[in-house]
Amino acid sequence: MALSSVFCPLLASKTPQPKSAPSFHLGTNGLRPPPKRTSWPFIPRSNRGRSIGIRCERRDDSFYMRRCVELARKATGCTSPNPMVGCVIVKDGEIVGEGFHPKAGQPHAEVFAVKDAGDLAENATAYVSLEPCNHYGRTPPCTEALICAKVKKVIIGMVDPNPIVASKGVERLRGSGIDVITGVEEMLCRKLNEAYIHRMVTGRPFVTLRYSLSFNGRVLNQLGPGAEESGGYYSKLLKEYDGVVISSNLFPKTFSLPTSHETGATQPLRIIIARGVNSLHLPALTTESAGKLVVLAEKTITVEPKLEDVKIVVLEQMSLSSILDYCAHQGLCSVLLDIREDNEVLKELLDDVLDEHLVQKVVMEVCPIWCRGEEAFLAFGRKSFRLRDLETRTENENVVVEGYIL
Ligand SMILES: [Zn+2]
Repeated sequence: MALSSVFCPLLASKTPQPKSAPSFHLGTNGLRPPPKRTSWPFIPRSNRGRSIGIRCERRDDSFYMRRCVELARKATGCTSPNPMVGCVIVKDGEIVGEGFHPKAGQPHAEVFAVKDAGDLAENATAYVSLEPCNHYGRTPPCTEALICAKVKKVIIGMVDPNPIVASKGVERLRGSGIDVITGVEEMLCRKLNEAYIHRMVTGRPFVTLRYSLSFNGRVLNQLGPGAEESGGYYSKLLKEYDGVVISSNLFPKTFSLPTSHETGATQPLRIIIARGVNSLHLPALTTESAGKLVVLAEKTITVEPKLEDVKIVVLEQMSLSSILDYCAHQGLCSVLLDIREDNEVLKELLDDVLDEHLVQKVVMEVCPIWCRGEEAFLAFGRKSFRLRDLETRTENENVVVEGYIL
């Protein structure tokens, strides 16, 4: 019996709830949650225990906001075009409710967290990594869920750049007498949703350039050991991005379509740039993968094997700008430009990339290989530039460096 709709109509979603969602019982005091609260099923008990069981870490606003980000990341690759959002409800120094936005069209993080907290949300503090929405979309506004739950204070990581949200959520909460603080762990929250923010501000997808180098600086056709396997950086990147752009030059060789091997990964749209060819043979193409593949060409071409779902799009002008316009039109928030050894097709497109600010991030992998021969150098762009906010890590003897273009 869905008595939660009586308890607070805004918290009653028509979305099918996970099978062990908290239920409400009729007690002597009317409707109330069962005394022994169950954890929200999206958040395994083991994870929750690990986070709040660390007694030596100081539990301040930053601590709870970092937990929000940690929760939000559970939905990596699943929420686009929506942002990833996490929320925790804290009362008397203890986390009493947690939630995150699992997928576009499903309830938002605040709704799950408030449901998880039950009547413990009253007079509690809600932490949320992104400003709560204040509009009716596919789900009711989260501001109403928080107001209805009678939280006392809301602490927000960052204000939403979406013009239909921007500051209206904060205003609505303050107008209801709730104390609101913004900008806690803001940089962390911005990085979490860098693609969403970029898309909102510019209307274009967030673009990352990726390539692998040998130890002596040659561009490689291959990735480093383990990179494509589950847990490898490339597999994780593919899970994170909405689309991946590759060159048709790769396909005469044995080349499989870029595929994420992460558990539950939604595969990115594979966008193949075909230039100077009349036909394209894709040996790895299957009926299943054909539905998430687009060939962008300058003229009509044939694609083998002939499968119904393969989409061939002829662009009037082949440029990175027109490719990204196409991606934006398809609703992609993030695109990975995957450069391999045979990069002539993409290289021409990348010459004016910096002038037009079309690429935001670079991920470079250095592999423990010393190359002989004539492998290509990366030689594009008309000016020099610096990268900022560099991060470096080592994975399976490969060094992965990422940075942002100013
Ligand atoms: Zn919302």
